[in-house]
Amino acid sequence: MSVLTSGDHPDTASGATAANGTNGAQVDLGPATALSCRECGERFPLGPIFACTSCFGPLEIAYDFPTEGPEALRARIAAGPNNIWRYAPLLPVPADVAEHPNLNPGCTPLVRADRLAAELGITGELHIKDDSGNPTHSFKDRVVANAVEAARAFGFTTLSCSSTGNLAGAVGAAAARAGLRSCVFIPHDLEQGKVVMAAVYGGELVAIEGTYDDVNRFCSELIGDPIGEGWGFVNVNLRPYYAEGSKTLAYEICEQLGWKLPDQLVIPIASGSQLTKIDKGLKELIQLGLVEDRPYKIFGAQAEGCSPVSRAFKDGHDVVRPVKPDTIAKSLAIGNPADGPYVLDIARRTGGAVEDVDDEQIVAAIKLLARTEGIFAETAGGVTVGVTRKLLAAGVLDPAATTVVLNTGDGLKTLDAVAGTTGPSATIRPNLDSFREAGLA
Ligand SMILES: *Cc1c(COP(=O)(O)O)cnc(C)c1O
Ligand SMILES: [Zn+2]
Repeated sequence: MSVLTSGDHPDTASGATAANGTNGAQVDLGPATALSCRECGERFPLGPIFACTSCFGPLEIAYDFPTEGPEALRARIAAGPNNIWRYAPLLPVPADVAEHPNLNPGCTPLVRADRLAAELGITGELHIKDDSGNPTHSFKDRVVANAVEAARAFGFTTLSCSSTGNLAGAVGAAAARAGLRSCVFIPHDLEQGKVVMAAVYGGELVAIEGTYDDVNRFCSELIGDPIGEGWGFVNVNLRPYYAEGSKTLAYEICEQLGWKLPDQLVIPIASGSQLTKIDKGLKELIQLGLVEDRPYKIFGAQAEGCSPVSRAFKDGHDVVRPVKPDTIAKSLAIGNPADGPYVLDIARRTGGAVEDVDDEQIVAAIKLLARTEGIFAETAGGVTVGVTRKLLAAGVLDPAATTVVLNTGDGLKTLDAVAGTTGPSATIRPNLDSFREAGLA
């Protein structure tokens, strides 16, 4: 256990049994009380499990939420640290989480995007929730930070994941900080920026000859094998805890809007976990009285080259048919998205939609966002901004409403997307004549 914590958490000793899935009753994960099946509602003790033993439905966290009332809770949040742990009373983490070595992500800017709004013909408020400023430059730090607390509680010594790129870096960094071993798995054909970031923190990085979906299948096998004993896969056996981290995007957006719900949100979809949990977070804020109870619409964004959820939405299907991804938006390239059916539910229930854009539109949107707001997004941000543009043109998004568009990653990680079509305006000799000749004076 010595690699886990400095020894100031003797209660984690009981986590060793929890890691074997036999007893989760002793863990302290704050307001989290149990795991609950999304499909049949059956309850399980908190432990490193992710599927219902009765119906194979996904498990999610059930809570005993604070009862102090909205005013007091808002004040408690406002007095908290300037990172996601200000929302600890609503997350599956112990009360003293902020004292654990963690990357402390969150509290990223909500940027009022008036110039982009003008270009897009939006007359209402447009905001970009810019998550590129997290410690490893994607939203994944939020989910991993939560998974690390679960890994500690269950006594895991190795942190692992199957990743489309950003998650591998976030896990590598978080494990380094927490003093855990890490071993992460990626498809072999990722962007260099993501491969280097996943490796630089010193853990094991394994590239697999196959797609993300192959990587994910491999990880499921590893969990079932003795080799994987003591391993916490943040997005597999720790998935219920990991996924809750995305709720902090909902909390932050509403707090930054002055504890108000936006009218419309445009959210990227890879596995669909983030979108699903942002909806969960918004519903919790309503339930707790932290925001007014009124409708909001959720819009999902995919790349055309990996658009199984968008396809199902447009075809009116409830089933998401897996595809083989082929897109520059590699962080979103999950051909068989686990939460696809829930995304369809949410888009339909809230009156939103799911749409996709092609690679050319993604690149154009990256440049549009950079040119109008000074935000350099990775391809996933090109997908959300591109889809926003497309849905406005189609009259599906309301141009007069308050809209929040997510940018979930940093453009420096996907330089290739724009490198071929951007560069110096001219290359000149260091004198004025040369500058004049270039036609730039
Ligand atoms: C992982 C990721 C997402 C969304 O992932 P989900 O699996 O849908 O939760 C979005 N944007 C970026 C940049 C990502 O890395
Ligand atoms: Zn069930």
